[in-house]
Amino acid sequence: MAQRVLIVGASVGGATAATTLRAAGIETIMLEKELVKAKPCGGAVPPAAFREFDLPQQLIDRKVKNCLIVSPSGQETHVPVAGTVPTSDDYVAMVRREVFDGFLRQRAQERGATLIHGSLVGLQVNGAGVEARYRDQQGREHMLFADAVIGADGAYSPTAKFLGLPALPRAVAIQERIVLPPERMARWADTADLYLGYEVSPDLYAWAFPKRDHIAVGIGAGPGHTQAAKQLLVNLKQRLGPALDGGQLVLREAHALPMEPRRHMVFDRAMLVGDAAGLVVHTSGEGIYWAMKSGEMAAQTLAEYLDAPTAKNLRQYERRWWKQYGTMYQFLRFLQWWGYGNERQMEVFTEMCRNHDVQRLTFDSYMHKTMAPAPWLAQMKMTGDILLSEARNYLWRRKPVRELALA
Ligand SMILES: Cc1cc2nc3c(=O)[nH]c(=O)nc-3n(C[C@H](O)[C@H](O)[C@H](O)COP(=O)(O)OP(=O)(O)OC[C@H]3O[C@@H](n4cnc5c(N)ncnc54)[C@H](O)[C@@H]3O)c2cc1C
Repeated sequence: MAQRVLIVGASVGGATAATTLRAAGIETIMLEKELVKAKPCGGAVPPAAFREFDLPQQLIDRKVKNCLIVSPSGQETHVPVAGTVPTSDDYVAMVRREVFDGFLRQRAQERGATLIHGSLVGLQVNGAGVEARYRDQQGREHMLFADAVIGADGAYSPTAKFLGLPALPRAVAIQERIVLPPERMARWADTADLYLGYEVSPDLYAWAFPKRDHIAVGIGAGPGHTQAAKQLLVNLKQRLGPALDGGQLVLREAHALPMEPRRHMVFDRAMLVGDAAGLVVHTSGEGIYWAMKSGEMAAQTLAEYLDAPTAKNLRQYERRWWKQYGTMYQFLRFLQWWGYGNERQMEVFTEMCRNHDVQRLTFDSYMHKTMAPAPWLAQMKMTGDILLSEARNYLWRRKPVRELALA
């Protein structure tokens, strides 16, 4: 009998895994419970994703060329989107997930993957194979059999749950899509904003990202602050103030973000990718590229070992992943802890982003997913700037915006 792989979740991670498996000629079934509503998401995607996954530029609503970072006290840092060797093709792509995911899903189907609209409600994995139970749109239950399963089913991952794995610590992110009059939208023509401060995001950040015909404003709140999420979004909109005047709310959406990678992402006949594996980077909450990359890498490993998909063989995926991206993950995790740890550090973080080497190294790692060590002169300048900023902010505390507003 032909070998078959079941992928639970046909969003960015699952659809990329499906396309990769089809390229290896493997029968692939994607099971997806939500084919109508878009995944709640800021939709910022690095150019590396377009290059590496051969994505058409038509998926891009806007190319962001500038970032505005605003500290808790209202200090502003303007950062051009450019790497160490600036090119005209440096940008952050803004996409709408309904468009982006729709393309990836359709491409996987065109390459021969089958898409089933249904929700996974049971999963058993044993020596003989994988038995999955799913519920269709009419509420009927069906069985599916496969040689292996890839869990690409997001932050709540039912696949991980059925494999007996614990839930990961989760942040929550809420966003509103607001259609603005053209004269207000012009302010965000090619600029994305990031806001720091307890008032809008105690341990992550808040954003205003421009899409084709609207602005997406949202906040991230770490595991200890999820209850405050709605209020944080209200505060963000207050902070944006007149910039949103005349805006019309068209959608409010929220979802969880995993805040820890899983200790193991492979088991006998089973693999986890993207949010299900906890592969979101900490400083930016970025997960689209990582879900696609892990979907691809897991599928490549599975194609190699589908005759004997034991945890021991599939571990190759885990090893390759951490070898390629381990240092970057550790660094970005440290950066979140260091830069968003308290409001004084958020001020330092905002000031640090004025250093040209910091700007360019940051965008190299974001846009191209490479981390080259900075030349020693640049390192000394960065260290000097950070120490000065630390001294300034710890000796003379800046007042957060909300206190200024109350004064
Ligand atoms: C508000 C918000 C803003 C964000 N902004 C950004 C951003 O700007 N840039 C960025 O890179 N990342 C961002 N992220 C993170 C990004 O959305 C995720 O990291 C990314 O979508 C993970 O992809 P995935 O394929 O692993 O999982 P998901 O995209 O979560 O997809 C999981 C899929 O599994 C399906 N599924 C779940 N349960 C079942 C089931 N029982 N049966 C069948 N199917 C099931 C779901 O319907 C879904 O389609 C944001 C997240 C949030 C919440």
